[in-house]
Amino acid sequence: MIPYGKQAICQADIDAVLEVLQSDFLTQGPKVPEFEAKVADHVGAKHALAVNSATSALHIACLALGLEDGDWLWTTPITFVASANCGLYCGAKVDFVDIDPQTYNLCPQKLAEKLEQAKQEDRLPKVLVAVHLSGQPCDMEAIHKLGQQYGFRIIEDASHAIGGKYKGEFIGSGRYSDITVFSFHPVKIVTTAEGGMALTNSDELASRMNLLRSHGVTRDQSLMTHEPDGPWYYQQVDLGFNYRMTELQAALGVSQMDRLDAFVARRHELAKRYDHLLAYLPVTTPWQHPDSYSGLHLYVIRLQLDNISRNHRQVFESLREQGIGVNLHYIPVHTQPYYQAMGFTAEDFPEALAYYREAISLPMFQGMTDEQQKEVINALKSALSTGGG
Ligand SMILES: *Cc1c(COP(=O)(O)O)cnc(C)c1O
Repeated sequence: MIPYGKQAICQADIDAVLEVLQSDFLTQGPKVPEFEAKVADHVGAKHALAVNSATSALHIACLALGLEDGDWLWTTPITFVASANCGLYCGAKVDFVDIDPQTYNLCPQKLAEKLEQAKQEDRLPKVLVAVHLSGQPCDMEAIHKLGQQYGFRIIEDASHAIGGKYKGEFIGSGRYSDITVFSFHPVKIVTTAEGGMALTNSDELASRMNLLRSHGVTRDQSLMTHEPDGPWYYQQVDLGFNYRMTELQAALGVSQMDRLDAFVARRHELAKRYDHLLAYLPVTTPWQHPDSYSGLHLYVIRLQLDNISRNHRQVFESLREQGIGVNLHYIPVHTQPYYQAMGFTAEDFPEALAYYREAISLPMFQGMTDEQQKEVINALKSALSTGGG
């Protein structure tokens, strides 16, 4: 089976992890700050806070922005459930903005319309989670402008987008948002096995997230509410969690970051070849924003079903039967049973639903060979054809 995504681990990665195992610290040592500094320097952010997953990063990002009971968080329906669940963790309510049919990202025009209506109904969002689907950046300039106008805060869920650029700057630079989140799950671009990171240029948000990732406990006197009893003293000043990243994970991350540019470059080579090889097939290839450089976590095609005699499911199943580990990113979040129970119906976001009925993620990972890519194309040709299998 050719998987849709796969980590690339080299000897240097293995050596880096082994070195930590033989050191004094398995957690809370020097590697986590080293990894944070490396990512922050690379993307041009002031602060980076490593945590045990992007889901945890989204949670503490929402809390740091003051999201609470009765507030609204808005995001796109075409994302992993974690982009929405972080709002529910904070007691907030979640709503969605339909996608743009060309970029598959949250549509800024629909956002503007929904905000105008929400303003009249006095239910404006406090936080918007902008997801850079497949690594393709959202129209952050437009979203940021709306944020200024309607007073909401912005989290970029850049789980797919490390190493990508928007208008000449690395995603994570924070020019158009409050906090950016990366994921280091093995299918993503850079991995730490499990892991995530929250980046911000705000000292205050960084300080809050730092507290929240480790029990709300501090040894920093400037954060304490009264004088320490003695040198042993620590103080719990907030209700936090244990969301810390281990030294083993951070060492892997430091080592992987050396190859980030090469990883993304290889993904772009593969995408160009896919674009070329798929040009004459009844599928829509991913649109690339002229102002941006995608991280290309995913390569999503949409079937032109009017020109194909098979249906979406048949094409998908045929690919799997032929050993191609295709996937579907994503089942619209608002159609999940947990969200349906909140009153959403599938038709609430028609572009998201139309996308879901046509989308297939083809294999895309840095270690993919040209030969494997040809196999994918041949399997797809066969899956799309009327005859056989
Ligand atoms: C993978 C992913 C997450 C969650 O990342 P974890 O590190 O697994 O918690 C969140 N949002 C998006 C868009 C993702 O793809």
